[in-house]
Amino acid sequence: MTINLDASRLKTDVDFARQGRQTGDFRLRPSDNSKALGYHPVPVFCLQNGEGPTLVVTGGTHGDEFEGPAAILRLMHRLDLEKLNGRLIMFPALNAPAVKASLRCSPLDDGNLNRAFPGDADGSPTEQIAYLIEHCILPGADAAIDIHSGGRASEFVPLSMYVPSTGELGERNRALADAFRAPYCWVMGVGNDNRTVNSAAERQGVPMFATELGGGGNVNTEYVRLACDGILRVLQSLGMWQAPLVAATQATTYFRIPATDFTLFAPRDGLFVPAKTPGSRFSKGEAVGDIYSIFEPEREPCTLVAPHSSLMISQTRYGQVERGDFLMQLSDEIS
Ligand SMILES: [Zn+2]
Repeated sequence: MTINLDASRLKTDVDFARQGRQTGDFRLRPSDNSKALGYHPVPVFCLQNGEGPTLVVTGGTHGDEFEGPAAILRLMHRLDLEKLNGRLIMFPALNAPAVKASLRCSPLDDGNLNRAFPGDADGSPTEQIAYLIEHCILPGADAAIDIHSGGRASEFVPLSMYVPSTGELGERNRALADAFRAPYCWVMGVGNDNRTVNSAAERQGVPMFATELGGGGNVNTEYVRLACDGILRVLQSLGMWQAPLVAATQATTYFRIPATDFTLFAPRDGLFVPAKTPGSRFSKGEAVGDIYSIFEPEREPCTLVAPHSSLMISQTRYGQVERGDFLMQLSDEIS
């Protein structure tokens, strides 16, 4: 499928119609105090062999989540092009200014790229990147993957997440996530945030899933390997990989988040001491953690309990929390 970049302000020297391995960047030119006449490079790789389908893989949508960038860079350098059948377009640092600063959001406009879709061709830097992906790149794709992890703020079990859209698209989203074969899979509900890459792909009718792979703002070796192996399995499922792969043997645990009270927030300021780690299960009413008041040590700790029997899929990475801060994401396993 053709990639038409005419409507985007971001231009590139990469020729998406060319065979072979290309590296380059899209040029983000805000003409602000950060770059008066120069540009912020948004790196892009295009690996093409033959005339098969197109898979788009993005990492660095949030700038402090490095498993995606690491996996994409590893594949770009090591992937045997002769075994590829089709076109693999990869962005290792989609919100490049945020990645450069190791921040979730862009320091140029405080933009959270995964809340910026469908974007604006003439908008802020983050909105311009969103527009490029939704309106120029995804329409030329047969499938897409957006690799996230918890960043500095949170720690997730290694999971894929897909939207169970109605009809064939939902089935294809599920098939892609199944091919990736993460240990956990989040079947997202209706009414998901419509500003995400998942929603952009749904609007464009492109099958896709996202991931959350650990967290902490560093690089988890095991999850980088999982991402590389998973992307190869997705390529194979699309008929884009011509060499045998070692099949994943681990079963996948599917879950959903059926109600808002599965997300726990801090009811007061203090030191949060969780009772368990992500991947643990709670019975209804079981203590999930305590909040201690460091500066009012005589005050009784506040014990939080699980509102439902549940599986914990993520947890805050912060010790000290304020009222309203995210503490823990619980979920309901699908049997
Ligand atoms: Zn993220």
